[in-house]
Amino acid sequence: AGTGGLALLGLAPSAPSCPHGPALLFVKTSQGKEEGRRFYACSACRDRKDCNFFQWEDEKVSETRLAAREEYNRNHRPPFTHRQNVERYKNFVLLPLSKRRFCQECQQLLLPAEWEKHSDHQFLCDISTAQLKSPSQLLYPLENKKMNAQYLFAGRSCRFLLDLIIDLGFRRVLSVGTPRLHEMIQSKASQEEDFKVRSLLLDIDFRYSQFYTEDEFCHYNMFNHYFFGGEAALETCRKFLYQDNGERVIMVTDPPFGGLVEALASSFKKLIAMWKETEKEGHNSREMPMFWIFPYFFESRILEFFPSFAMMDYQVDYDNHALYKHGKTGRRQSPVRIFTNLTPSMIVLPVEEGYRFCTICQRYVSSGNQHCEICNSCTSKDGRQWKHCILCNKCVKPSWFHCSNCNCCTLPNHTCEKTNAGCFVCGKAGHKRNTCPSLS
Ligand code: SAH
Ligand code: ZN
Ligand code: ZN
Ligand code: ZN
Ligand code: ZN
Repeated sequence: AGTGGLALLGLAPSAPSCPHGPALLFVKTSQGKEEGRRFYACSACRDRKDCNFFQWEDEKVSETRLAAREEYNRNHRPPFTHRQNVERYKNFVLLPLSKRRFCQECQQLLLPAEWEKHSDHQFLCDISTAQLKSPSQLLYPLENKKMNAQYLFAGRSCRFLLDLIIDLGFRRVLSVGTPRLHEMIQSKASQEEDFKVRSLLLDIDFRYSQFYTEDEFCHYNMFNHYFFGGEAALETCRKFLYQDNGERVIMVTDPPFGGLVEALASSFKKLIAMWKETEKEGHNSREMPMFWIFPYFFESRILEFFPSFAMMDYQVDYDNHALYKHGKTGRRQSPVRIFTNLTPSMIVLPVEEGYRFCTICQRYVSSGNQHCEICNSCTSKDGRQWKHCILCNKCVKPSWFHCSNCNCCTLPNHTCEKTNAGCFVCGKAGHKRNTCPSLS
């Protein structure tokens, strides 16, 4: 079944666990109404091929099945613990260059005693210190679309983010699913003496535990706020969020776009709550500063959960994004934006890339984004100039026209049929996610 007809009910206190931590509770829906039995499924994997965990909410699970499940969860733990990987790393860096190998098949740094076992695997030799400092270049990006599509920031976007963070005065970055940003920070911190920014990476990709200590990386699932390393890892995160002598913290996250915005939002709220607990009295009403990097067509979904957030026009670029690489004009047109609870006017976008400051909106906008007199705002979401529709009383994409049948602006080649259920992506009625106009 597609995600379209499923509603997430969330994290239940007594939820059973799969190898990815507590499962999430779902219910089938039709026409927006809950229908049928509730069930638990894996929080991290949308595809049953990656994790086939499934259990009806009201199902009686036998002792033998429980035991088998526990056994299965145990067997699906990574071959080494984080602690072991840290030890292995220490030994690895003592090796001369000629003995430093990385198995590409197992995605693992090899110690000489293990070469034999990996003898018919492809491997890289002479792993340099520079390579060890850029694991996101060494590891191949996980391309599994449904679970762990890793889209790595292009250098330009990563540098922009880090410069922005520094200019805004932040000294600690909670990097949630942003290994490349983390890596840039770590590598600068080890090379430049007066570079004072620190980062803690939270990510489900355990391969990173080979390169970072327990103070630098926590194995974490952002769909159920699960720390695989238990209480010790939670404590690491708490300690990191504690702001010593005014070292301000910002959380930066770039989750997979596969959906489940409500699950992400609920985890982020728990991270925000952790941050709040560490704060001294009187600061309780403040929010943890945040950059949530996500496609613009999720704007309404994000604002549903974080009404104080605003979407910035900056187009975040990736090295390996298969989609959207080139727009019709041949220019890169990324649909990915920064959502933030910081004051928009403080987010200075690069003028040399065409962004300009709109004095009325009090924020930087992309060059094509014209201020609409009627809406009294810069209305474009995708960077192109949008046009105002008098009938819809709002600005719409340049390629849309007003359909009198549907009584709204839409793509010229749409079929005029209404379904009541809202689209999974934009929440509007009239189409399903695969024909969502915001994806075109
Ligand atoms: N642009 C970022 C990478 C974003 S790709 C950068 O260059 O740093 C999404 C990231 O989220 C990946 O690192 C992936 O491993 C991580 N991720 C995917 N599912 C996750 C989950 N359930 N919990 C935590 N992290 C997850
Ligand atoms: Zn404006
Ligand atoms: Zn308008
Ligand atoms: Zn219209
Ligand atoms: Zn129509």
